[in-house]
Amino acid sequence: MKVSPNLYILSSVAGGGKSTIIAALTEEFPEFYFSISCTTRDPRPGDVEGKTYYFLSVPEFKKRIAEGEFYEWAEVHGNYYGTPKTPILKAIQENRVALLDLDVQGAKSVKALRPESVTIFIEPPSREIWIERLIRRGTDSKTSIERRIENGVRELDEASSFDYVVVNDKLDDAIREVKSILSGTKNKPF
Ligand code: 5GP
Repeated sequence: MKVSPNLYILSSVAGGGKSTIIAALTEEFPEFYFSISCTTRDPRPGDVEGKTYYFLSVPEFKKRIAEGEFYEWAEVHGNYYGTPKTPILKAIQENRVALLDLDVQGAKSVKALRPESVTIFIEPPSREIWIERLIRRGTDSKTSIERRIENGVRELDEASSFDYVVVNDKLDDAIREVKSILSGTKNKPF
């Protein structure tokens, strides 16, 4: 599959299936650069320092903001998340295909910095199915799930500001659709 070097930003509501789609892409295309973010949230089972995230304390994160070390950063679900600047600029300079897993605010920030980047929103097939999946995932506390639902309802309203919206009904179809966007074979919806 031929993919033009660019930044490809994937966003979704929590439990929308975005991480699974990104994991499938990075496994199939190890040459893609995947941006590893810094976060102040606690590691969840399955998280690996330096692989899923760099886990930082709040003071350390704030120090890095002050030192201008983030390409973009945002507060999401009560925690800080940020894209380290040096590696993403290196990936751009090396003309690599870069995947970024960002919330809606982060997607907007990067799109403003690089308008040629491609934003993709992964949307659950319905609110009911989404909430059921989020609960079934079993990785979050009740308060955290409630907060993610509250934020997600707001994020779903922003889906139309993305370049593409992919409905994740069947995972394989959603992966195929994202691949067709990356390879430029899917036309823009407008
Ligand atoms: P989670 O805690 O479930 O891994 O991620 C929560 C949210 O933070 C997701 O929407 C994810 O896309 C977003 N996120 C992860 N890394 C970054 C980042 O570096 N910047 C921004 N703006 N959002 C991020």
